[in-house]
Amino acid sequence: MQIIKQACGEYETNCYIIQTNKGEFIIDPGVDALHFVKKHVKKPLAILNTHGHFDHIWDNAKLKNEFNIALYIHKNDEFMLTDPFNKGFIHSKADFLVESEDEIEICGINFKFHFFPGHTPGCCMIELVGENIMFSGDFLFKRSIGRWDFPYSNADLMKKSLEKISLYKQNYRLYPGHGEETNLKEEQIHLPSWLQYLKGQI
Ligand SMILES: [Zn+2]
Ligand SMILES: [Zn+2]
Repeated sequence: MQIIKQACGEYETNCYIIQTNKGEFIIDPGVDALHFVKKHVKKPLAILNTHGHFDHIWDNAKLKNEFNIALYIHKNDEFMLTDPFNKGFIHSKADFLVESEDEIEICGINFKFHFFPGHTPGCCMIELVGENIMFSGDFLFKRSIGRWDFPYSNADLMKKSLEKISLYKQNYRLYPGHGEETNLKEEQIHLPSWLQYLKGQI
């Protein structure tokens, strides 16, 4: 199993391809991700979105059209796939709406959607089960956390989500939606300061 990434578009949104011996999974295909994906897949299996912001879902429709593969997103962010507030991208349709903490299996590979709303209503970290890997989207970055002041964001939910992730005992390698990789244990060290800052803002 191998994970490759490309930073897409002006926000440098990370699109990841998980290459397995069954085929490939695409996480958050951003602006022009199609070109990157085409170069690195033999048998694409599915698209998984960590959340519904336009820079993470931009090429969903193009990939679905090119490869005829299913799209998975948390049910609370489905509306963002066709949100007129998000302009410029081609609207896409989810094939599977994931519930909080759902574990799904695709061709023998399991993914768990850990629900951390706040940045968006359906924001998730997607675990590649059995590998100690999480695609952390815009919830956790290396030394930073996702913004909670966008339309559809919710600072109170963000606070609860940060409290929830603070309690995770297991370490995971984190592949964020922007920037470099990190791991959960290192980021948990900084969470009390973020929580304090966030509480001052609410
Ligand atoms: Zn976002
Ligand atoms: Zn983002």
